[in-house]
Formats: sequence, structure tokens, C-alpha cells
Amino acid sequence: MSNEVKKPSANEGIKTRSRFLRGTIAEGLQDTSTGALCHDDQVLLKFHGSYQQDDRDLRAARRKFKLEPAYIFMVRIRLTGGILNSSQWLTVDRIATDYGNGDFKLSTRQAIQLHGIIKNNLKSTMRDINLAAMNTLAACGDVNRNVMCNPNPFQSAAHEEVINTANAVMRHLAPRTGAYHEIWLDQEKIISSEETEEPIYGKTYLPRKFKIGFAIPPHNDIDLFANDLGFIAIVEDGKLVGYNVAAGGGMGMTHGDEETFPHIATVFGFCTPDQVVDVAEKALMVQRDFGDRSLRKHARLKYTIADRSIEWFRDEVNNYLGYKLEPARPYHFETNGDQYGWVVSENGYSHFTMYVAGGRVIDKPGFALRTGLREIAKIHDGDFRLTGNQNLIIANISPEKKAAITALMEEYGILRNHDKTGIELGSVACVALPTCGLALAESERYMPVLLEQLNDVVERAGLRHDSITIRSTGCPNGCARPYLSEIAMVGRGPNRYNLYLGGGHAGDRMNKLFRQDVQGEEIAGVLEPILFHYAREREEGEKFGDFVIRTGYVAKTIQGTDFHKNVGNVTGDKLEEPELVNA
Ligand code: SF4
Repeated sequence: MSNEVKKPSANEGIKTRSRFLRGTIAEGLQDTSTGALCHDDQVLLKFHGSYQQDDRDLRAARRKFKLEPAYIFMVRIRLTGGILNSSQWLTVDRIATDYGNGDFKLSTRQAIQLHGIIKNNLKSTMRDINLAAMNTLAACGDVNRNVMCNPNPFQSAAHEEVINTANAVMRHLAPRTGAYHEIWLDQEKIISSEETEEPIYGKTYLPRKFKIGFAIPPHNDIDLFANDLGFIAIVEDGKLVGYNVAAGGGMGMTHGDEETFPHIATVFGFCTPDQVVDVAEKALMVQRDFGDRSLRKHARLKYTIADRSIEWFRDEVNNYLGYKLEPARPYHFETNGDQYGWVVSENGYSHFTMYVAGGRVIDKPGFALRTGLREIAKIHDGDFRLTGNQNLIIANISPEKKAAITALMEEYGILRNHDKTGIELGSVACVALPTCGLALAESERYMPVLLEQLNDVVERAGLRHDSITIRSTGCPNGCARPYLSEIAMVGRGPNRYNLYLGGGHAGDRMNKLFRQDVQGEEIAGVLEPILFHYAREREEGEKFGDFVIRTGYVAKTIQGTDFHKNVGNVTGDKLEEPELVNA
């Protein structure tokens, strides 16, 4: 570690000058001469849960007519553990019609994203979200984001305790600034000191975003190892005794820059349930104080730890805590996918996990999903739970309502919607084009095209019922956690993808680059011989991600820092037989 004092990044100055995230957002919203906010306010707006974007499908045409880009805003609703009630669901659905583009997206972090909101409607959108007792503050920005938690109430008796703890962490680490209520809810400005306004964060908040997740083994459905900080519930003799603590996960990287890499979190200790909030706060404070504030692409906790070691981080957390974390306890994950279909709890309440393609709640010809869910929400007295894989659980359906809700699910095709191949059910895609400003290639609009081809392949190979995780993103930032799936496509340019293979089926091992710059329409053809090979020669119970490593298609990734080493067959040559690059 160099002791050289580096110049803080421009974002640090913006945060410092912002008066706790106020900036000139309120004034910018009043400016009718443009559909945009000024640059600094765009940075601050993220902390409030919104990104300024523009419709990239319209960019060229508007430029031709010398019009400014078609500015729109994405608003992200933060929901700890992805839980919202029927009334809140109906509010989101209405806002999507009143102010958005008529649909909404279930995100990969159990949040809801509304797209296509123009500046003039931003304040009304925020107001209506808050009136429904939901929040967008800290859904984005250099703060602790939405806390993820296994959403499935039936999967463990410990679930309620875990979700309550996740909620406590989210509440404790939420920014305290009055800016949010002043700007969006017209509350009076309160003058306060740094200590009272942001006692945990201070005026510069964190160096970068910070993500926390809670998983309950054997389900790793929230992809715990992708988080800056993860808590693995340890249940002994049916009782929740505490949590293993993991740190240093993160997916983003930059193509061609080996200084950046995805990384999976390392388990470094154990804490009791009553210590969790304290541990989360102190771990976040260590990153607040030691994270790189000069280079944003090196500012996540994974780099702080990679530069110094996990032992250093553990010791610092212990120092900040004033006591020592215990050694980690044994645990075992089996999958990071969702368990589809019906489950009935001991209390007679039912839960139905459904597949939502790309997480998009939308009406399409032949499948009026959004309308169906709206009709269900009108009578459902339980709740809706978003999974970390962009899917949805209609949860806590009371015995009295089950027949009526089942009839609606039948009427709108929801009951049959998970009658799909295992690879389709294991798919996740980030938004990418046309709204994400960072997208290099299609993702959400590309995935269905690829799946149509791959469904044909897996049917012919006899793999229809085999669960295989596949993810795509339009750029290497990794919002859909592509590096943790068995197959991944990461956008490099228009219709060009890097193809990765070999992630662990339980989300506990990263994949590796297999082919570079593959055209979108060629990917199914590249995968076909490998899938057939898998069908022919896999060992009993062997998962696809393990198979491609055992048979030498790609080398095993040990940790993020070796992500770029010993890559697979990236020559682009047609693959006739597996090439044993690292058998
Ligand atoms: Fe946008 Fe990249 Fe995230 Fe996809 S992965 S939503 S393209 S930033």
C-alpha cells in the first residue's frame, strides 16, 4: 500500500458541496427549459433513488433534428427483502401508468424499477411512492443500498428472524439527511450539524455503493457472495444461533482493465444475532475510512480488501467493534436459483413462486401478466415478494383466498408460466438498452432471442429439466451478477458479447472467459456442442458449471484477482471437440 495522498475524485467534491445531498435538485426540477438536471445534481439524484437516462432508441433521430436527448428517469423503490403488500403493488402498477412507460421491472436486488419518467413527473412519482409507505432513498448512490434477504417465508423457521434483522440493518444504515423529505415531500428545511444529519456517513458518505445481503442455507438465492457484506444464517438444532460474516464481493469490472475484476466475498467470522447491526455498521465504517476516494473504479470494498487482505479487514472490524468476531461455522449452499411453484406453510398459508422473464411486469400478446397480477392484488390479503433472480412470490395466500387467486392465476396464464426449460427458468438479464446509459449491447431484449435457440438445444440434448444458470448484461458492470452464473454473456459492443462459463451452481464460484467477441446469433451454436457433451458425459449429479471445468473448457476461478488469468478457448475458432486448456 502506498502512503501517497491522492486527489479525491470529482464525485467526492460534489458530495462535500451538496449540503447532505441537497445540491440544486429542487431548483433543477423547476427548470422547464430542459428535461435534464445539471451534472452534479444527476450524481446526487442517485442517492435519492433515481438515475437520469435517455431513450437511446431515439438518440440518433433527435440529434438529427437538433433536439436534446429524450431525457427520462429511472426510479428505484427500495424494499428490504423485496416485500410489499397488495396495496403497495397496486400503487406501483398505477404509477407505471400515470408517470412511467406502462410497465415495471423487478430488479436483481429485490427492488422495483420504474422507467421512462419525465422530469416533470419525478416529484409526483416520489410523493406517491412515499404515500404508499415505500421509499427510494439509498436505492442508488454511495451508501448502503437495498438489503437483500431470502424472501421465501416457508423455507426456514428462522426466516422471520432473519428478515427482521435485515430490516434493522437497513433502517440503521439509511441516510438520515433531511434533503429527501425537503425536496420530494415539501417538508421544511431543518438546519443541523454533520453529526446529527449523518452520524454514520458524514458529509462525503461512502467511496462507492455498498451492498448487504442475508442468505439462509441451503438457499443462496440472493447471491450472497456478490455483496460487499454478507450474513449467512447459521441454524443449529432448528434455532438461529447467529451468522457467518462475509465481505468483499462485487461484480463490476471494466473490459480490458485487469486492475478491475469481479470478486466473491470471503467468509471471515461469525457473530450472534444481536451483534449483526453493530457488525454491519462497523464494517461499513471501515470501508468509509479506508476505501479509495480517488479512483471510483477502485473504490468498492473488494479492492480495499484485495489491496490489504481479508485478515486486515477482520482485524479492523474487530478494532471498530471493540470485541472479536468468533470463527466462522460450517454451512452449505446448494443453489442460487429460485424454487418454482406452490408451497404450503404449516399454518395453511400458500406461496407461489413464479418466473418473470427479465423481471419485466408487462402485458404482452397472449400473456397479460401485469393485468393478472393487478387483479390478484385487488383481492390478495398476503404480500408479494421479489426474489433476487427477478422472479416473484405471491406469498401468504390465506386459505380463504386461495381458490379465487388460483382461478385468476389460471385465467391469466400465471399458473402455467413456469412450464419452461431449466435453462430458461435459470435466466436473468439486466435492463441494458434502450434506457441504461452504460449499455454496450442488448441484454433484456436479447435474452429471449437466445433462450428460444437454447430451448431447442436443451430439448434435443435431453436437458429440459436440468437447472442451468444463465445471465446476460449489456456491459461489464455486472448488474445481473453474470460472473456467478454457469453461462454468462457480457456485452462488448453492438451484438458482441464475451461468453463466460463455469460459475458454481450455488453462486459460490465465478465463471471464466471462454470466448471473446461472439456475435449474439452465434452463441447458441457455440454452446450447443458443450451442452450435448454435458448431456452425454456428465457424472451423477454433476452441474453444468462443474462439468465445463472438469472437462477443461475453462479453468477454475479461485478468486477475483485471478479472474483474468488462464482464460478458456477464446480464439473464436469453431469448437469441434472440447479443448483441454487446463485439465
Ligand atoms: Fe446497464 Fe451494464 Fe448494469 Fe446492464 S450491467 S443495467 S448495461 S450498467
